[in-house]
Amino acid sequence: MLPVVAIVGRPNVGKSTLFNRLVGSRQALVDDREGVTRDRHYATASIGGREVMCIDTGGFEPDPRDELFAKVRQQAETAIQEADVVLFVVDRQSGRTPADDETAEIMRRATKDSKTLKDKLILVVNKCDSHTQDEEAAEFWALGMDSMLCVSAEHGRGVYDLWDAIGERLPEEEIIEEDEDNGEIRIAVIGRPNIGKSTLVNRLIGEERHVVHDMPGTTMDAVDSVVTVGERTYRLVDTAGVRRRAKIDDHLEGYATSRAIKAIERCHITLLMLDGTDDIAHQDARLAALIEDRGRAVVVLVNKWDQVKLDPERNVKTVMHDFERRLPHMQWAPLLFISALTGKGVGHIFKRAEEAYTQFDKRIPTSELNKFLEGALEAHSVPQKHHRPVRLNYMTQARVRPPTFIIWSNSPDAVRAPYRRYLENRLRDVYGFYGTPLRIQLRKKRKPGEEKGS
Ligand code: GDP
Ligand code: GDP
Repeated sequence: MLPVVAIVGRPNVGKSTLFNRLVGSRQALVDDREGVTRDRHYATASIGGREVMCIDTGGFEPDPRDELFAKVRQQAETAIQEADVVLFVVDRQSGRTPADDETAEIMRRATKDSKTLKDKLILVVNKCDSHTQDEEAAEFWALGMDSMLCVSAEHGRGVYDLWDAIGERLPEEEIIEEDEDNGEIRIAVIGRPNIGKSTLVNRLIGEERHVVHDMPGTTMDAVDSVVTVGERTYRLVDTAGVRRRAKIDDHLEGYATSRAIKAIERCHITLLMLDGTDDIAHQDARLAALIEDRGRAVVVLVNKWDQVKLDPERNVKTVMHDFERRLPHMQWAPLLFISALTGKGVGHIFKRAEEAYTQFDKRIPTSELNKFLEGALEAHSVPQKHHRPVRLNYMTQARVRPPTFIIWSNSPDAVRAPYRRYLENRLRDVYGFYGTPLRIQLRKKRKPGEEKGS
């Protein structure tokens, strides 16, 4: 699980402003992608050289039936239990309020010992827009917290200190095993709550006799199940997360997402589960985007197909149409129609995963790639930039898992997205790559005599 930084506090203290400050540039980058909408309640950020999941707890839709205190209480309790670092935000402008006192008290009660509270919690006095205003923040010491920082989320004042303070509190980095080639294929089952993940995992490991559950890290949370089918060993990563009934509410999705990211990071292949009985949801698209971001191979499982059979309005065609429309970036992934409940189709999963892995791990010789490039350019040359020709000189495959290609050009920036897509489609036409994402990077060709790095 990625370290989680939760932002807690009553409305209007500046939580979302602070959230945007923390995740800022990264989020903007991600938002650039067409067709991908993301909500802003949680996002990954880079803090102290580490990737963390930031959650703006106030960002969740308030329940109109909820008393304000009840809402804040629940968020505060969950945050202090689930998050690694909690930013308790208060507002210098309005001064200390009864709601602040209440929140402080809740968190004190929800933590087992004062050390945990001290290790996790940072009191952030926001809207300290100048030095003179810092003095007014002193009244918040009365909340009894060990560390307090004065910041201005809006103007960026004090955020470097805040970054440091967060960095100091992050848990020790888990050692991710080197990608040594032991022939094992790591698979993660990904999908929104209630899609059928636990049912599927139980079936996959239930049908196989050679199952070992072991712990890769130190945390009990990350239990893998190892399944042998014929000659091949498959490691289903983080099966504890899907086998145990989720203890986290659906509306606190950020915590679950941080777990999903971790699983995606550790795997080669993701089994992305969709609900066949329903249209593809926003949340599915977001999980798909996470998988694509990390460049993992995918087999899409359209689950609950036993139910769809009963619905005259839905069939393979309607599902395919929805898939094309909602997940345009993932058209390279194979679809498998299954029922985790009855077991229908489940028997094909490992075979499909195996095929996707072969593509994910495929290497094309450089000589062949340069013939490919020549052909691609002949069929469709790169649009000029300012009436100057854009040349693509040379192509090579830098790595596998996923296949990553480098093309040297006199003007890499001039090669726009549509042309990159053209190259990708052509690569797929020629070489298949069914089930794996591809990466194409353009590099500046150095002039003769120019030193590396100059
Ligand atoms: P949230 O409800 O806690 O998420 O609060 P918002 O982030 O929406 O901020 C509430 C209001 O406070 C907005 O009008 C912000 O512009 C303002 N605000 C946020 N941070 C600062 C700050 O550092 N200084 C000042 N003066 N105003 C701020
Ligand atoms: P998870 O939250 O993704 O782990 O989902 P679960 O495996 O707990 O499944 C949620 C619900 O959907 C349970 O009631 C399952 O019995 C049901 N379910 C799972 N797979 C199927 C399926 O293929 N067909 C039908 N009809 N129900 C299913």
